[in-house]
Amino acid sequence: MRTDMCGDLRATDIGRTVAVCGWVARRREHGEHLAFIDVRDRTGLVQCVVDGAHDLRSEYVVRVTGTVRQRPEGTTNADLTTGDVEIGDCTVEVLNAAEPPPFPISDRVDADENVRLRYRYLDLRRDRMQRNLRVRAKVNSALRTSMERQGFVEVETPLLWTPTPEGAREFVVPSRLQHGSFYVLPQSPQLAKQLLMVGGVDRYYQIARCLRDEDLRADRQFEFTQLDIEASFVTQDEVLDVISEAVLDAAEAVTGNRPDPIPRIPWVDAMERYGSDKPDLRFGMILMELTEVFAATEFNAFKAPCIKGINAAGLAADYGRNKLDSLTDRAKQLGAKGLVWLKVGDGGALDSPVAKFLSPQEQEGIVAVLRAQPGDLLLLVADERHKVREVLGTLRNDLGRPPVSDGPYRYAWITEFPLFEGLDDQGNPVSAHHPFTMPHPDDLDLLETDPLKVRSQSYDLVLNGWELGSGSIRIHRADIQSRLFKTLGITDEEAQGRFGFLLNAFRFGAPPHGGFAVGLDRLIAILAGEDNIREVIAFPKTQSGLDPLTDAPKPVADTVLRDLGVRLLPPPT
Ligand code: ASP
Repeated sequence: MRTDMCGDLRATDIGRTVAVCGWVARRREHGEHLAFIDVRDRTGLVQCVVDGAHDLRSEYVVRVTGTVRQRPEGTTNADLTTGDVEIGDCTVEVLNAAEPPPFPISDRVDADENVRLRYRYLDLRRDRMQRNLRVRAKVNSALRTSMERQGFVEVETPLLWTPTPEGAREFVVPSRLQHGSFYVLPQSPQLAKQLLMVGGVDRYYQIARCLRDEDLRADRQFEFTQLDIEASFVTQDEVLDVISEAVLDAAEAVTGNRPDPIPRIPWVDAMERYGSDKPDLRFGMILMELTEVFAATEFNAFKAPCIKGINAAGLAADYGRNKLDSLTDRAKQLGAKGLVWLKVGDGGALDSPVAKFLSPQEQEGIVAVLRAQPGDLLLLVADERHKVREVLGTLRNDLGRPPVSDGPYRYAWITEFPLFEGLDDQGNPVSAHHPFTMPHPDDLDLLETDPLKVRSQSYDLVLNGWELGSGSIRIHRADIQSRLFKTLGITDEEAQGRFGFLLNAFRFGAPPHGGFAVGLDRLIAILAGEDNIREVIAFPKTQSGLDPLTDAPKPVADTVLRDLGVRLLPPPT
């Protein structure tokens, strides 16, 4: 139907007879007979000069034929890629009429997100959404090319499946043929990909849909997409190399620049320096150790197991009494006993309500460790080590973190996570990753005696303070798996009931294996410059899990429930 895309026409096309198709983006009258019509398709807009007698309204679907010509002097538009030219002598064919859209189809006009999602098909006509979908397609294509180049094969795994151990609430699907039994939608292909390793697939990947019934946020949806991989006979370093290569290939495909090699930071260093296991490396404000400086302090608030400080360089003047009070409140909300602030004066002296309690050596120590300069604002927290890291890590982000989508892109691998992230109500350790994660070989002996000290062979990929994904070397030996289940308080029967099929498979010669999953919605959002993953998903759910376009979820007919053998309880009162 068309010879050209609207957004492609340039001065080099002048004189050509062309046909373009698209939607009427804007109409401006020009005298009695002529009208300017901007026609839009996915590539952009072109101005068409048509006989004003046409009934052409916004979003009418048209085919325009005419001749490309130079715009008259003084009417070129530098904001448009086609701004030097227009199509003249136009014949317009209306392919379809349209009702007025509920919001203007323009990046320049903000519309309420619920309305955008209800009319997502109109929202998708906007430049920004077209661009985001293309970024997404580019990332998927680059990842597939990269994984295949690296010898991986894509294998699809079931969606109707059985519980998987990622720790989130799961979606269940009643079985029509087996009343009272349910499929579970996979939180990830974790167990399937481990079975593929037992099956000798050796190098597996999948651009996989995962489903978790968790509360939604800007960086979380019920269903999301992962680049999921698993490989046999690999070391942790080899897994990190494969994923680094794929992610950098994808970033390069979108931005044209290959990011630097991704640094690897042990978890404990990330926690000590940034107070976070997903550090944003785009800015400094490192958590500096001051415990030694106050080893013999007389100041009661600093008689604590750990003291650290951050230097909010140059921010002293910005923080008056009110802002300092709210920083202190924030620190207390985060569980700190208090927050000590000190401003560095012109001569280098420390100005703070607590300065008089600190000895000259202690004051010099603070200045030296925090490399303080006049005009800096210093924030100190004294408490248990984990609390100090958490509070200062959060304040560091509050004070210094740019919007997630602002460049530059700073990736990091965080390695050597603890195997467990704490104790549950019954006093059993809780897996930090999942229960198939291999403990660090040096820490195996601590599994029964001091489990919270055991490091794991697991790793996260982080970008600009967002966790992009996690992975681990897996346990492939029945004896270690059984010790781990015991430590977790999972009985043999329970383990058989939940993961029996995997444990059985492992009896038939499981190779050592490990893998990773990259959250693609997050990666794509950052590469597209969006702070919210809903902007890079064609049909996302709202924060409350609803789809305003289809009104899902909604009730089904009684006959459907009867077929499924399901009876509803009355709504909770
Ligand atoms: N299945 C894990 C997850 O979804 C990733 C992995 O360990 O490969 O977080």
